[in-house]
Order: sequence, then C-alpha cells, then structure tokens
Amino acid sequence: MTMRRTSLDRAAELRTEPGVVDRLRGDETARVIAVRDGRVRIAGADLSEAELLRVPPSEIPDATWALLGRDAEGLPLLLASLPPEGDSVDTAPDETWLGLRDLGANLGAEDSELLIEALALAGWLRDAPFCPRCGGGTELRQAGWSRRCLVCGREHFPRTDPAVIVAVESPDGERLLLGANANWGGRMYSCFAGFTEAGESLESTVHRELAEESGVRLSSLRYVSSQPWPFPRSLMLGFRAVAVDEHGVRPDGDEIIDVRWFTRAEIASALAGEGPVGLPGPASIARALIVSWLEDQHETGRSGPQ
Ligand SMILES: [Zn+2]
Repeated sequence: MTMRRTSLDRAAELRTEPGVVDRLRGDETARVIAVRDGRVRIAGADLSEAELLRVPPSEIPDATWALLGRDAEGLPLLLASLPPEGDSVDTAPDETWLGLRDLGANLGAEDSELLIEALALAGWLRDAPFCPRCGGGTELRQAGWSRRCLVCGREHFPRTDPAVIVAVESPDGERLLLGANANWGGRMYSCFAGFTEAGESLESTVHRELAEESGVRLSSLRYVSSQPWPFPRSLMLGFRAVAVDEHGVRPDGDEIIDVRWFTRAEIASALAGEGPVGLPGPASIARALIVSWLEDQHETGRSGPQ
C-alpha cells in the first residue's frame, strides 16, 4: 500500500532555542507558509502542478507565528497563522486561497505533508488560545508547538484525535464490504470509519463501529497505515479486517443508509470511474485501503492453487 510518506524535517531541536521564531523572521533565507481560515495560497496558475506559495517573512506583518521546520534545501520554514478577517496580507488579484479539499492530490509529496502540518498547527493556534483546565490566558512556547497557562501554569500541546477506518473483506476474501453514508447522496460507497472515544482502544473502536454501522462481527484485524486529516485535528488509522460471516449485514439506517458486498470486478470498474458506484478520491486513505484489498486479491489469483 502506498500512502504518501516523506521525511519532512520538522527541526524540533530548534524549538527550545529562546526567541527562535523572532530570529528566523529576520532571516532573509527563511520562507513562510501563510494560512488563513484553513486555506493557503499556491504558486502558479495551474492547479494540476500546484506548489505551496512560500513568501519572505517581511511580507507578513501581522500573524501568529510558529516554526514548521526546514525545506529540502535546509532553509527554515515558518507558519504564519493569519487572523480570520485579516486584511494584513497584500493579496494580489490573481491570488487564490485554497483548502486541502481543493488541492486534493495535486500537490507533490513534500508540499502535501507540509500543508497538513501547517493546517493542523494553524488550526490549534486559532482554536485553543485559552487553558482548557482553568480558562486562563496562555503564552506560546516551543516555537508555537506548546502553550503555557499564565494562571495555573499547565502546559498544553496541539491535540490529535484518533479515528479508525476499516476495509472489511468476506471470510473467503473475495468480496469487500462498503457502506453508503447518508451525507454522501446515495451513490458513494466507502470504508467504515469512526472516532475513538475517551478511554477506548483502537481495536475496540473498530469492532464497535462495524457492529453499529453494519452489524458485522470481525474475526481478524490488522493495522495498515495512517493519514493525518486536520479537520480539525484527526489522525485516520487504517485497518484491514475479515468478517466472521458475510450474511446478515445491515445499515444502521441513520448514519449509514446502505451496506453492500462488492466483488473484485465491481471494485475495479468503480475505481476506473465506470458504473453507478462512486468511490473515495485519490488522496484518501479510504481509497488506498480499497486498492490495497483489490491488489492483494489479484496477487492471490495470479499465484493459483498450490
Ligand atoms: Zn490554566
């Protein structure tokens, strides 16, 4: 399975340097990714070859700042989280602010990883200015990666909320179980997903979600890969599982309006964009899990009986 994986250098060792963000704001080699309302600007007009726009720090007068890391050339990268109503950035008429859904799979691997880091950190900087324990004001520390409460002294960090997403196959491995969410309009099918609750393990989350949404019990479960999804702060943990019994599946009728077993041929044609069924888009972990199942099955088929 080929989820994107690069080695973005977050330069975490710099975060403890006193005043490091102010120093880098004065560094002419530093570059800034500006985020406003969950959106960024891209360089160039062609979305299919989009790159994140990187500007010198001097072009951003008013923002909440943080250190993102170093780029491929080792130059410092800063985050400027702009005020929601901010008009502080000199926006040229041809500049467009785009979100993660707009950019989809158009960014390269490095920019894609950088974008998700920037959106996740900017979301926390925007949404969590006060101490969750006592409501006091906070000061930023660790180059924007921590906040300390000015009243009770507790230190807080950007949160990540785990969620599971699961591709379930039939006991014989020949069919894949997918569900249609009420919010997707009826044509779209995908893997089952849900948030981990307080005090719950990932394994328990998977079994609970599948029982709730499809009525299926699972006989085996294995972790595959993960994808951060900063809306506002999720980490999707992808699993494969095998159903105990393929009969008796049923949608919960609330969140999930239909549950179906799909053959290998049906999945292959849906991935090719043919037929009535829609599948998740190319940048999603859901699609990667579906493709992973399809390719496994093909490999099994090719090897033939032993
Ligand atoms: Zn406090």
